[in-house]
Amino acid sequence: MELTCPNCNSDNTQRLSAVFENGISTVNNKTHGVGLGLGRGGLAIGAAGASTSGTSQTVLSQRAAPPDRKPYLVPLLKIFGGFVVASVAVSALGVPILGALVTLAWITATVGWTYRAAQYNAKTWPVQVEQWQRSFLCHRCHHVFVPIPSTESL
Ligand SMILES: [Zn+2]
Repeated sequence: MELTCPNCNSDNTQRLSAVFENGISTVNNKTHGVGLGLGRGGLAIGAAGASTSGTSQTVLSQRAAPPDRKPYLVPLLKIFGGFVVASVAVSALGVPILGALVTLAWITATVGWTYRAAQYNAKTWPVQVEQWQRSFLCHRCHHVFVPIPSTESL
């Protein structure tokens, strides 16, 4: 399957999932920051300017990694931690209504995160995985793209 990079016309491209699974062998030292992204909430790839100390392989592998689900445990624990800190701070003031407001904020944040994460995991994440499975990586310019099926007709 030959696919040409829409950015630099190189045919040295590889399926993103294959890049992730096999690891990268053809890495050159051109790892200056390239801001890449795949449109509408897709793989937002903020390519950091990787140092030229041979960590580019890891960077590329990370870049080719499939999208993650939104986690529950760690964010909810952080929210709870913020609640505890705020509760302690507020209780020192001795104003009961503030404690109630802090509790309300904690419940709101917990429910809100849980709802948003569930929505993301149920709707957005499968789309991103599907897009990731169709994506290709250009080994020359590191551009990530989704090939359009109808352009091969000429
Ligand atoms: Zn390219």
